[in-house]
Amino acid sequence: MANDILNKVIEQLKPKNVTLVAVSKTKPNEAILEMYNEGQRIFGENRVQELTDKYEALPKDIQWHLIGHLQTNKVKYIAPFVTMIHSIDSLKLLKEVNKRAKQNDRIIDCLLQMHIADEDTKFGLDKQEVTELLESETYQNFENIRIVGVMGMATFTDDIQQVRQEFQNLKSIFDNLKSTYFNTQDSFKEISMGMSGDYELAMEEGSTMVRIGSLLFGKR
Ligand SMILES: *Cc1c(COP(=O)(O)O)cnc(C)c1O
Repeated sequence: MANDILNKVIEQLKPKNVTLVAVSKTKPNEAILEMYNEGQRIFGENRVQELTDKYEALPKDIQWHLIGHLQTNKVKYIAPFVTMIHSIDSLKLLKEVNKRAKQNDRIIDCLLQMHIADEDTKFGLDKQEVTELLESETYQNFENIRIVGVMGMATFTDDIQQVRQEFQNLKSIFDNLKSTYFNTQDSFKEISMGMSGDYELAMEEGSTMVRIGSLLFGKR
């Protein structure tokens, strides 16, 4: 049953070359292994403790993405192994990721989380903050992080038009950043948007990476 859904989603993503991040937060290792055995390798978690526990217990070729808010003092626990951090929302956090990546002799892929929702509760940078970050001298000296794109979460609403607009906004922020700061960098290519309820809409609006949890694993 679960496998049918996974395969259906994968078939939808394939023609558009969209990457699936299977969001396994709160789900037991057995559920992750089941999906791993179907071929899925990219999993997303939003808590550092849970992520490190699962990393230790599960196969080492899993690519772990941190998708939730990240506190500076917890970066050190995931820096040795995390594949991508979707939730960079300050220069201070990026600085810590760079420092810990360096200590581990790694370069960590990061997404800039943009505030696109009409809600105060969601983290993220606004347009001015992202400009300040990318133009700061501190950022330009980082050698152990790589900004590979942007991430955003739409407002939790039934208003499809609003969600569509917010995704369009993120796509346009991506395009602007690309042409202004990452013109020559092919690695700046990811737009992480879309969850269980809105990933089809997100794909219509240019998503390259969807983060799907409950649709694959069942309700939390
Ligand atoms: C939980 C979570 C998801 C997945 O949500 P579903 O609705 O279960 O697909 C995606 N992105 C983030 C940042 C999350 O915290």
